[in-house]
Amino acid sequence: AKSAGRNTVRFFDPEMQSLIERRVTLENELRDALHYKQFILHYQPQVDRNGRSVGVEALVRWQHPDGRIIPPSEFIELAEETGLIVSLGSWVLETVVARLSEWANDPERSHLSIAVNVSARQFRQPDFVEIVSRLVEAAGIDASLLRLELTESLLLENMEEAIATMTALKKQGVSFSLDDFGTGYSSLAYLKVLPLDELKVDQSFVRDMLFDEKNAAIARAIVNLGQNLGVTVIAEGVETDAQWQFLIENGCHSFQGYLFGHPSEM
Ligand code: C2E
Ligand code: CA
Ligand code: CA
Ligand code: CA
Repeated sequence: AKSAGRNTVRFFDPEMQSLIERRVTLENELRDALHYKQFILHYQPQVDRNGRSVGVEALVRWQHPDGRIIPPSEFIELAEETGLIVSLGSWVLETVVARLSEWANDPERSHLSIAVNVSARQFRQPDFVEIVSRLVEAAGIDASLLRLELTESLLLENMEEAIATMTALKKQGVSFSLDDFGTGYSSLAYLKVLPLDELKVDQSFVRDMLFDEKNAAIARAIVNLGQNLGVTVIAEGVETDAQWQFLIENGCHSFQGYLFGHPSEM
């Protein structure tokens, strides 16, 4: 009720009530999940034009006490709204850095980068640069293997601040990828001023690329744009050999999708 004044009759909407209750329950469960460390990371391979693994993307899952593995689509939004994403994001970063440090001693894996999804609230923490630098330094890892995935909406919220944060982290060697490229409120002008290393073609373009000339045109344009800007381009959601071939022919550098592997524990 907007104005719950003296004479306002409050009405009871059972549906709304149960929605609110579910949300509160989920929020409490999320808090517990952070406290009891119920999150796990799955890693999905990223390959080059020869199909060789060059890195992975870390994707969080919630191992609910009831046995279910809950995908991020069911809790990231609430985690963002409640601010819990900041702690969750820190846990993800710590876990990824620990994993990179383990892999550094494994000749089969020491070359692999790990991409991490960074949410807006996490990125805007005043001490984000410090947090990341400290983690990287304490673990003694090669910072260039840590790739932070940012979205357009995050960057457009406060461009100056974003550039400052990115520039400071780039000095430490950390690299940046622009996730879901082309799906947000794109403004191409900002690409000139952002210190990016990679553009990530969103899976929605890849999905229909071979059946829909418009999606093909967009995918091709993003690859060209990346080439002209001097950043690498990775395509996500690659599921078929035909999609992979098409992307290779059009100059795409790296690839991620079920064709090469589902996200899994590694
Ligand atoms: P995203 O960053 O765009 O991640 C790609 C999503 O596509 C992942 O879903 C992945 O499992 C899925 N995917 C990979 N290959 C294919 C494919 O070939 N076909 C199809 N149809 N899908 C594919 P997932 O793991 O459910 O993650 C969903 C979203 O949740 C992510 O989208 C990302 O925005 C967010 N997310 C995941 N982990 C984190 C995290 O640690 N922190 C934050 N802030 N967000 C996260
Ligand atoms: Ca991503
Ligand atoms: Ca994406
Ligand atoms: Ca996405």
